[in-house]
Amino acid sequence: MKILVVNAGSSSLKYQLIDMDGEKELAKGLVERIGIEGSRLKHSAGEKSTVVEEAIPDHEAAAQLMLKILQDPEYGVIRSTDEIGAVGHRVLHGGNKFTASMLVNADVKAAIRECFPLGPLHNPANLMGIEACEKVMKGTPQVAVFDTAFHQTMPPKAYMYGVPKMYEEKLHVRRYGFHGTSHRYVSRWVCEFLGISPIGKKIIICHLGNGSSLSAVMDGKCQDTSMGLTPLEGLLMGTRCGSCDPAVVQFMANNPLKEDGTPLGHPISVDEVLNIMNKKSGLLGISGKSSDCRDIDDLAAAGDENAILAQEMLVYGIKKYIGSYAAAMGGVDIICFTAGIGENNDALRAKVIEGLEFMGAELDPEKNKGRGEKVISKDGSKVTVCVIPTNEEIMIARDTLDLVTTGKVRDH
Ligand code: AMP
Repeated sequence: MKILVVNAGSSSLKYQLIDMDGEKELAKGLVERIGIEGSRLKHSAGEKSTVVEEAIPDHEAAAQLMLKILQDPEYGVIRSTDEIGAVGHRVLHGGNKFTASMLVNADVKAAIRECFPLGPLHNPANLMGIEACEKVMKGTPQVAVFDTAFHQTMPPKAYMYGVPKMYEEKLHVRRYGFHGTSHRYVSRWVCEFLGISPIGKKIIICHLGNGSSLSAVMDGKCQDTSMGLTPLEGLLMGTRCGSCDPAVVQFMANNPLKEDGTPLGHPISVDEVLNIMNKKSGLLGISGKSSDCRDIDDLAAAGDENAILAQEMLVYGIKKYIGSYAAAMGGVDIICFTAGIGENNDALRAKVIEGLEFMGAELDPEKNKGRGEKVISKDGSKVTVCVIPTNEEIMIARDTLDLVTTGKVRDH
């Protein structure tokens, strides 16, 4: 069966068509600037690629264009949309309702809508993606795969915040965690790769990309994760500040600064402070130059003190989470790096593991060089340190296939 994987953002729609017979990627693409001037579709299928520039007013038009290019005589890979067996959608927030992926029906859509306040930027866009595909592929099953679902096994001691309990009971204010599809894929695949069972194993997954999160996985189940009610909590990220004293919000709201560092002269709202914390902080906010780790590395190598500080903060934060998760689980067997930074930045991996010999993690500098799926710890290291490239799309496609063929999601 061919499964289409869709990740809809507020002005974008990313897609990948996968033939589940052999799990082969047939084509992928990105529709950008939906509803904005300069909208376009970038598409590739094997060696061939193309860019279509035309007005794309909404998500329905984006979905239509995606289907048209997938059937294009030159760049397409299917003759008819009937060849698409089902569509799997990435959905950011499933609240505390969804512990696994779901076939989309009216109740599931209503629940995604109920989670709009928890994921105000993503959930409305994810639902637009689902509804657009429903319209242009009538009768094709749609599946929702939630970024939060894998973390639903966290115990209350890990997911509760220390605010009055009624906020959790009435308004569901709690830690949810994100990147769940990636944490699930990597925590499963690392065990297959090492030829071991996840049962009895304590694993720390470091998903380090533009957004970053760690998770503590024991017996294959998530015990804790660093992101919270929203993806803002946890590590320093590309543009997000990560965890800080909540009182910083009030202080910044009362004492805001202009871009040039001079006082703005009047208070700003909590929403405006959160905008700074989400979009102008992290590597970007500390370096003042870039949110991209590669730029930060180049700047640091050239002696830029703010970039060096940003690098140090990132590494220090990851180490602290690894230490705390090892303590919380009573040890750690496997530490696994994934996502853009985790998979590609061997220097950062070395800095993170440096000094963790006391807990039995010993890096092999030679094995650590370069990319790809591998063990990077020394032979005999008590903790096995690995790099596992993540693949959220394949996980979404597998869940989708399971749901449309058997009605249940396997633990794959
Ligand atoms: P992601 O959000 O997973 O796409 O990761 C984006 C982050 O990964 C950015 O900070 C990039 O600097 C970093 N990254 C991606 N590719 C590479 C690479 N080849 N070498 C070093 N860092 C990379």
